[in-house]
Amino acid sequence: MQHRHLLSNEIDLLLDGDAGFGAAPLRAHVDECADCRARLDEALVLASALERLPHFAPRTGFADRVLSQVQIVEPWHVAALNTAQRLIPESRPVRVLALAGVGLASVTLSASAVWIALSARLTAGSATVVTGHLRDALLGGVQQGFSALFGAGAAEAMRANGGLAVGAAAVAMLAAVGAAAVGFRALASASRQRGS
Ligand SMILES: [Zn+2]
Repeated sequence: MQHRHLLSNEIDLLLDGDAGFGAAPLRAHVDECADCRARLDEALVLASALERLPHFAPRTGFADRVLSQVQIVEPWHVAALNTAQRLIPESRPVRVLALAGVGLASVTLSASAVWIALSARLTAGSATVVTGHLRDALLGGVQQGFSALFGAGAAEAMRANGGLAVGAAAVAMLAAVGAAAVGFRALASASRQRGS
């Protein structure tokens, strides 16, 4: 005989009429133990009462109606992917323009980051010399491009301000002009194709 009272899953086994190897000692315990016999009798009464309840079938579409009211929590990466897919425009020219916008934003961000890093002189020791050279080279290049675009006077004004911020803005502007050109060319060729 079992030397402890039955667990509820063991009572369930007996309720189901399980005739397996493990059921015999459980049955032996119930025969000897008034407590467990009472619990088994109670469970039998409950099971037969449940069995006598009328059986309902849900109306068609019940599961869909319930699920439409359930808030399903999406994992963040699935939600992000879905949002990104919704944000991608369907027509190719608009997609190119959107891509150009993203590129412009990242160019602006990295130009700003370079400017902040250089002007804050975040590096120490000999690295400061290197960043100094880098800064001069970058500033010189930007000034050359700037004067080619907007004339020597503008470049002079920029040098006077000493602003790499102006340089960063110029880089961003150049990127914007290039990106917009690509986008509009795509738009134009698309409308040509539609016209022909
Ligand atoms: Zn018992």
